[in-house]
Amino acid sequence: MHHTLTESFFPNRCPYCRQILEKNRLHCPDCAVQFPRKPYLRELPYSGICIAPFTYSDTPAKAINGLKFTNTVFNAASLGQRLAWSVGLLYGTDQIDLVTCVPLSEARQAERGYNQSELLAQKAAAVLCKPYAETAVKIRNNKIQHHLSPQERAENIKNVYEIMDSSVVKDKNVLLIDDICTTGATITECARIIKRSGAKSVYCAAAALVY
Ligand SMILES: [Zn+2]
Repeated sequence: MHHTLTESFFPNRCPYCRQILEKNRLHCPDCAVQFPRKPYLRELPYSGICIAPFTYSDTPAKAINGLKFTNTVFNAASLGQRLAWSVGLLYGTDQIDLVTCVPLSEARQAERGYNQSELLAQKAAAVLCKPYAETAVKIRNNKIQHHLSPQERAENIKNVYEIMDSSVVKDKNVLLIDDICTTGATITECARIIKRSGAKSVYCAAAALVY
C-alpha cells in the first residue's frame, strides 16, 4: 500500500487542523480540547437511533472530507477512535459482537479505491476489540440523495443492498457504521436488511451527523 510508504517519509498531520503531530498521536491536543464532550444522537426514520462523535458543522468534522481525498487511512484512525468512544458511552461495548459498514457500490469503490465507511468501521472495531466483517453489498445504484425529501430518500434507497452471507449476522448484535448520517435513510435501510437476515440487534453509528 502506498500509504505506508508516504507515512514513512512524511510526518503525520492532525486530521482536523493539519499541524504536524508528535509521534504516535492521532490528533493534536488543540483539536482534542475542542472535541464535543458528548456524542450526538439522531432518531432514525421508523425506529432506532444513530450516534456520532461529531456534527458535520463541528470544525473537527472537516477531517471527514479528507477521508474522501487525502490522508485517508490516517484520518480514519482518529475518527474511528472517536466513533468507538461514542459507542462505548451510549451503547456500551459488551453487547456488540460484530462491526460492519454501509457498503459503496462496486463502481464507486473501484473509482475511489476504498470505502471510507469501511476504513472507519475497521478502525473502530480495532479500538473496541471486536471483529470486523463485510456483511452487505450494494446491488443497485440509487439516485443522488442530496435534493430528495426524507420520504423520497427512503423510497430511493429501497432494495439497494443485499446481505452477502446471513450466517455472519445471524443472532449477532451488530454495530453498523457509515461515514455521515443525513436523514438516516441509508443506514436505516442497511440496518433493516441486516436485521431481516437474523441479527439480534443493529446499533447504528456515523462519524458525523449532518444538520
Ligand atoms: Zn489539530
